[in-house]
Amino acid sequence: MERCSVCKGRLKDNTCSRCGADLAIPLTIEQQAASKLHQALEQLSIGNLEGAVLEIERSLQLKREPLALALYGFINSIPLSKLQMDVLGMREVLQ
Ligand SMILES: [Zn+2]
Repeated sequence: MERCSVCKGRLKDNTCSRCGADLAIPLTIEQQAASKLHQALEQLSIGNLEGAVLEIERSLQLKREPLALALYGFINSIPLSKLQMDVLGMREVLQ
């Protein structure tokens, strides 16, 4: 969030200098959503798909971020067994 969600003024910190809105809570939620998405990618990288889906769902509960939605759709579009094989295969290539 680089702009105030109330007046669209530029944000330098948690309080908008233009309209005075306190955006500490929405900014914290946004950071938590980003953190959950990062954890989802980490789970995906170690082949834990169930863990990745769980973290993406948590992230989406906080914020419907387009990247999280895309990743969620991507994982759900592939049969789990095939994706697991692909992830395991990728890990073998990386080692
Ligand atoms: Zn504002």
